[in-house]
Amino acid sequence: LTTPRPLIAGNWKMFGLEASLDEARAVAAAVSEAPPAARVAICPPATLLHRLAETLSGEPVLVGGQDCHPAAQGAYTGDISAAMLVDAGARLVILGHSERRGGYGESCELVASKVEAALAAGLEPIICCGESLAQREAGQAEAIVTGQIRNSLPASLAGQAFAVAYEPIWAIGTGLTPTTADIAAIHKAIRAILVERFGDHGASVPILYGGSVKPENAAEILATEDVGGALVGGASLKAKDFLAIINAA
Ligand code: PEP
Repeated sequence: LTTPRPLIAGNWKMFGLEASLDEARAVAAAVSEAPPAARVAICPPATLLHRLAETLSGEPVLVGGQDCHPAAQGAYTGDISAAMLVDAGARLVILGHSERRGGYGESCELVASKVEAALAAGLEPIICCGESLAQREAGQAEAIVTGQIRNSLPASLAGQAFAVAYEPIWAIGTGLTPTTADIAAIHKAIRAILVERFGDHGASVPILYGGSVKPENAAEILATEDVGGALVGGASLKAKDFLAIINAA
């Protein structure tokens, strides 16, 4: 089996204005000059997608969205479809991020329908999962995450390019991270479901870790068993920090 290149994806969330394009340009310039082992993606707010895609055209840095609607088009004020992300230059899309599951009550079933929409439009979905602090303290982390994975991954992912991101909610933006043993245990449980569902293909799907990845901890986390990359929030906003993480892969 071939091991795919790790994926390092930056999630800018609702941060980033015009000036942020300079950070992305700096990332692209460094990645072009010294190609890293990893594939690199930046997922900016929707307002910057098109311009970022234009800015990075021809550069080895992919552009992604942060969410999409399950419908192809329609009367959905404020929403954005997978085809619109593609039209703006996106190749990937983050789906089921905890800030959407928590902030907007997105269910696994809704996430699965968004995954279907993303695949239909030709996007590579990055499907997120992760437990809360209360769930971890109650010893339920693995059960919660495996439940999310079972219910958020439609059968149509078979043979398609996609990634999973394990992001413990209590580690996002807090500076806290699980031990590498804890990360490895959850990734192993996710891998088992991927293999059960998708066979050999499931064995090679990258499982990213996300939650307070920084230059100081990236090498250790990325060297952990079954960690196939990182989803990076805060540290992806500054080219210097994001590049340090990219080069740790
Ligand atoms: C995220 O929200 O995807 C994330 C991992 O954030 P941070 O790196 O800031 O913890």
